[in-house]
Parts: sequence; structure tokens; C-alpha cells
Amino acid sequence: MVYATNLGYPRLGTQRELKKALEQFWKGKISEAELLERAATLRKQRWLLQKELGLTYIPSNDFSLYDHVLDTIAMVGAVPERYRWKADSVDLHTYFALARGMEKDQGRVETIPALEMTKWFDTNYHYIVPEFEPEQEFCLASNKPLDEFLEAKALGILTRPVLLGPISFLLLGKIHHSSEHQLSLLERLLPVYEEVIQALAQAGAEWIQIDEPCLALDSDEAAQRAYQDVYTRLASWRASSAPSVRILLATYFGELGENLPLALQLPIEALHLDLVRAPEQLAQALALAPASLTLSLGLIDGRNVWRTDFDRVLALASQAVQALGSERVLLGPSCSLLHVPVDVALETQLDEEMRSWLAFANQKLEEISLLTRALNEGNAAIETALQDNRRAIASRRSSLRIHNAEVAQRVEAITEQMARRSQPHQIRKQLQQEKLKLPLLPTTTLGSYPQTAGLRATRAAYKSGKLDRANYEAFLKREIEQVISFQEEVGLDVLVHGEAERGDMVEYFGEHLTGMLLTQHGWVQSYGSRAVRPPIIYGDVLRPEPMTVDWARFAQSLTTRPVRGMLTGPVTIMQWSFVRDDQPRSQTCKQIALAIRDEALDLEAAGIKAIQIDEPALREGFPLRQARWQEYLAWAVFCFRLAASGVRADTQIHTHLCYSRFDDIVPEIASMDADVLLIEASRSQFDLQEALSAYHYPNDIGLGIYDVHSPRVPQAQEFADELQLVLKLLPAEQVWVNPDCGLKTRAWEEVKPSLQNMVAATQQVRSAL
Ligand code: GLN
Ligand code: ZN
Repeated sequence: MVYATNLGYPRLGTQRELKKALEQFWKGKISEAELLERAATLRKQRWLLQKELGLTYIPSNDFSLYDHVLDTIAMVGAVPERYRWKADSVDLHTYFALARGMEKDQGRVETIPALEMTKWFDTNYHYIVPEFEPEQEFCLASNKPLDEFLEAKALGILTRPVLLGPISFLLLGKIHHSSEHQLSLLERLLPVYEEVIQALAQAGAEWIQIDEPCLALDSDEAAQRAYQDVYTRLASWRASSAPSVRILLATYFGELGENLPLALQLPIEALHLDLVRAPEQLAQALALAPASLTLSLGLIDGRNVWRTDFDRVLALASQAVQALGSERVLLGPSCSLLHVPVDVALETQLDEEMRSWLAFANQKLEEISLLTRALNEGNAAIETALQDNRRAIASRRSSLRIHNAEVAQRVEAITEQMARRSQPHQIRKQLQQEKLKLPLLPTTTLGSYPQTAGLRATRAAYKSGKLDRANYEAFLKREIEQVISFQEEVGLDVLVHGEAERGDMVEYFGEHLTGMLLTQHGWVQSYGSRAVRPPIIYGDVLRPEPMTVDWARFAQSLTTRPVRGMLTGPVTIMQWSFVRDDQPRSQTCKQIALAIRDEALDLEAAGIKAIQIDEPALREGFPLRQARWQEYLAWAVFCFRLAASGVRADTQIHTHLCYSRFDDIVPEIASMDADVLLIEASRSQFDLQEALSAYHYPNDIGLGIYDVHSPRVPQAQEFADELQLVLKLLPAEQVWVNPDCGLKTRAWEEVKPSLQNMVAATQQVRSAL
């Protein structure tokens, strides 16, 4: 018997019920009991659904009220001092305070900040970063794994509880004020894990899934030794204290590489491998797996939305069955299904054909169940489903909705030359200055202005058909008029149109480009109660007509100051979408780059003198393994340049990077050759600044001196001081003055005085130069 397995299921609910419950609870509109009850209802639905779909191994403790790393922080009682937590268990108030910060004393403005949040590997999910003290103590402070196991058991479902492994947990955290390595805390941490495992074993758990995703990262000797030591220690402890419980060690998001032989010989009962990202692991694992080890084959893509090719998976899984015997094979998703939307059936606006190409979490579980049946009973057992699957796969392979000869030819015809500006920056700079006539230290903003409730409501009304196009466009024009006159009043030098027509940076382009589709319910958790709805890039990307030109032209018609066109770059559009899996990402990225290039040319032809091409997700696209960075950067930077280099030398190209560190890739950033780099630097200001100046970064830079992530209004003197610091490292001829990101989440009351102060400070510093 091959067994159908799952590693994790989306948490927010088909209608984002958890989001709504959480937000009502935080606003004080529902009680804690009500929140917990709604969460329990969701868990029940998830378990019953998975059972109904025929899965043998159904996870528990994969659900979370906020984040599974935060759950682990609570489980082991790793609450930093500042939260003044003293009880024996982490209550809900403390739990949410760790995630969201809290007020120090009732009614006072002073707050205790939340723990940091960062991206979970190369996904768009964000986890709460554990913070450890050098002498960190741990204690069992949450019974969530046991409680949820018992909850499912009461429903008649024997689940496989999921724990984030102790080594990954420590490696994903950071240790404060100490040169000590996080792994030095293992000794103290393990007893808590043992307590949890023992309690689960006593409650009747037969298997426990321990996730060690860090096995897919570059790991040093210390980490490798830790995997060996920890799992050896757990094995001997289990032999005496929890002999009935077996461990599935789950890895995902990439190849284990040098860690594969290590993982295969650990004293565990089963190992899960991601065979979507790294199919080549299968042969090696089959060759090296000891006779006691079960392999869990991650063959259904947990990171993407495409229907699985049954024939392909059956062939691979059969190899495993042949080598190991069916008793030692599990079939499942490549990783937790947390990273895909819930149900394609909800996408009623998609046509039949398009829907037949897609599989969200529920469809993926169905696939796992069907494929397992075929492996156990023969293909005939799923004949109809298999035929249906073959039809869908074939139609996707050949459909003209996907393959566009014109796009293919254009990509084929791309040359190195096309990705190079016609003149070097020094010459471009002069030509641009003749046109733009900017003062030293030009001031500008990043693109968006406050998106008020009214603005959002109007956009939503238009999208749902309650507001007609003419009225919507008239509304947008009024917004643009206001934003332009606001910027003139404040005295900014280079203006923007404000992005009122866009809710985020990618959706708007997804709506306008052929080959991309938007879903109605394709939500994927980003963090806590927040979800995003990534577009799906399903086919060759083509720009049927200009996307942003009318707005830019209108904005420019209102002022004599230059208005900058505003585009999202190809890497970011791709990175924040689900991407087709039938061609390399680099190919998809080139297609998008050509579309953005065309748009830039149309903006230029419409009289726009400066164009910003945002690439905030450039860093996010980094492969998990450092050895692959160069290859990625080579095509990613190439695609940016392809988008940016069609325009004339006297058109000024800006780019904006944010959300991550950049000090270690300054040469690559320089090779993007944007005329102006507007970069988020307010948080790790000096590393980056020093790196830029040490490298003699050649083009213009704006080092985001206004931190838009805080509601605080900085005083003019603060801006002036900050600017003076920048000018110690970089010549004034090179420096721009700007906030560190878009202003859309801020309120006008904050933005207005802040920008006034920023401009006043610049004028003061300028006049002293
Ligand atoms: N132009 C975008 C804006 O201003 C940039 C946002 C971002 O980098 N995240 O909103
Ligand atoms: Zn930004």
C-alpha cells in the first residue's frame, strides 16, 4: 500500500473566515471564546475534508491563529523579557503582542514593538522571527500540538501532528547581543520537544511530522552535526520514553544537496523530499535509503497552481514503489499547501478550459488521493480521471491561449544590445539635466500617495460594476489633480501621478497584460490575517495596448514640473505571481520585460521625461542556495535592463528597491544602470550607504530618508541631520531626497507635514552647499 499524505493545509478558510474573525477580535468586536470557536470550526472542516478526500496521513497543528513559527515560540516559551510574560503558558494576549506589538501601559502611547517578521524561505509568506537571549531558557508553554491532536481525535481522525523542527526553529531565529551561535541553545531546547512528543505519543499519535526545511539551505558543519546529534538523541530517547511514535522528517523548497546522504541515514522512520523543485533527488534517495526508511514523495507542486501531469507522477512514483516496496512509499505535496489558494471550484468567472489547467489545495489533495489509488490498484482504477487529466495536460501544452508566435519571435530576437542604454550614464546625466533642469538634491516621492478608505471603496465599486467606467475615470482624474497640486504646493521637484488606479503593484498590470489572469478567491496567506491574491501567468505575455500612458499624460498636462511615469518591473511582476511551469522563469521574465519596455517607449513618446521601473522583489527572487545567485542575478538584471533600455539617452530611468538588504549586491545593483536608484535604506542605513560609497556607486541615488513604515512625522532638523550624514559619504551631485517607499499606507495628515519638513530640510542643506 502506498499512502496518501499531506504536509499542511491553507489556514484562512475558503472565504477568509479566519482573517475576518481575527480582525473582529482585535477590534474588540468578538470575544476570545468566539474567536477560538470559529477557529475550531475551520479546523474541523479542514480535517473532515481531507478525510473525505481519502488521505491517510492528515496533519494537525499545521493550523495557526497567526503563524506556525510564532506557535513554536509559544510552545517553547521563548518570549523576550520586554513582554513581561510570567505565566506558565502563553496566553492569547501575549501571543498577539509578540506578533503585533502592544501598548506598554493601558492608554499610553508608548508601545512594545512586535517581534520582527521576515520571509519564509523563498515564499511570500512571512514568519515571526524568534528572538533569543544568550542564556535563553525554554519551557513547555503551549499545549497547542496536543490540544489539536485531541480535537481531531474526538472527530475520529488520527492526525499526524506537525512540529517545526528544533534546528530549523533556532536557525530561523536570532540571538541577541551575543556572538554565540543559536544552535548552542539546542541542549536547552530539546527537553521541551521531548515533552511535547511524549504527550502526543501518550495521546495516541503514531506519527509526528517534524519539519526541517533548513536542510534545503547551504549548511555549515555545525548545522550538519546538529542534525545528526539531535535526531540520534531523539531516537534513543524515543526508544525508552515514546517507543510507539514514529517520525517523518519533512524537507521542502529545494534539493538537500550535500545534506541528502546525511538526512537519509538519520535514525528516523520517514523522510519527505521535494521532488518538484528537485526531482533528481529521487534516484539518489532510492539508491541510498536504508531498508528501515520510508520515503515521502513530494510530487504534487505545493508552490504553484497547475494541474499535475498524472502520467509523469505515476512513472516517478512507480520507480520508488519498485525500489522500496509500496509499504515504504508515501505520496504527497512537495511542501505544505499553505502557499496555494484553496479551491478552483470557486473561480466561477474562469472558463472551463482554463479551470481544467488549474489545481488549488483541494484539487491537489484530490490528485494525491487518485494517484495513490492508481499506484495501489492500477491505472484502470482511475481510468476516467486519468483520461480527463491527459486531456487537460494536452490542451494546456498546445493551446493558442498560451502559445503566441509573435511573442516567441520577439523573445528569440532579443539581443545584448537591446539591454544596454545608448549612452553611458555620465552622458545621459547631462542630456537629462538639460531637459529636466533640476536643482542639486532633487526631491521626489516613490509613486503612491495615501490610499484613503474613500479611494479604496471607489475602486472596489468600479470593479464590482457598481460604478461605471466614465465616472470612475473622472474620479481618478480628480485624484490625480489633487496629488499633483499637493506636490506642487509642498515644493517637490519631480512629481508622480499617485497610483490611485492601483491597489497593489502587480494586479493592475496583470489586468492589462495578455497571458495573465486574476482570480476571484485565489487568496494566499502573506502574514497573520493578511492575504494576497497573486495573478496567474498562464501564457505568453503580451501588451495589447498602453497601460499607464493616459494617466501619466494627464498628470503631466497639469504641471510644468516633470511627472515620472510609474511601472512595475518584470522581475517583480513575475515574483509576485504564480508562474507557468512549462518554461524557465527567465523566459517568462523576458516576455514581461518586453511588455514593460514597450510601455516605457510609449510613455516617452507621450512626453514623459522620467520613468520609474520598480523592482522591490529583485532580492526576493534569490535562489535558496548561494551557488545559484549569480545565474539568477544575471538574467534578472538583464530583464530589468531590457525593460529600461529601449528609451532615449535623455529619458531618465529610475528604479526602486526595497524590503530587503542590498549592501552585499551593490555591484549587481550598479549593473542595472538605472539613472536614479531610489532605495529603502532607513532601517539599515549605514551598511548600505557605506557599501555604495566604498564601491563608488556611479549613478544617482536617493537613500530614502523618510521612513514611511512609521506614522511618526520627522522634524525638518532630523531630515537635515540625516541628509548631512548621507553627504559625508556621497557627493551632493549624486544624491536625491525621497521617502524610502510608497506612501499608500500612510494618512494625509502624516504625509503632508513630513514631506514639507523633508523639502524644507533639503532647501536648508542645499543653500549651505
Ligand atoms: N511605486 C510603488 C509605490 O509607491 C512602490 C512600492 C514598493 O516598492 N513597495 O507604492
Ligand atoms: Zn518600496
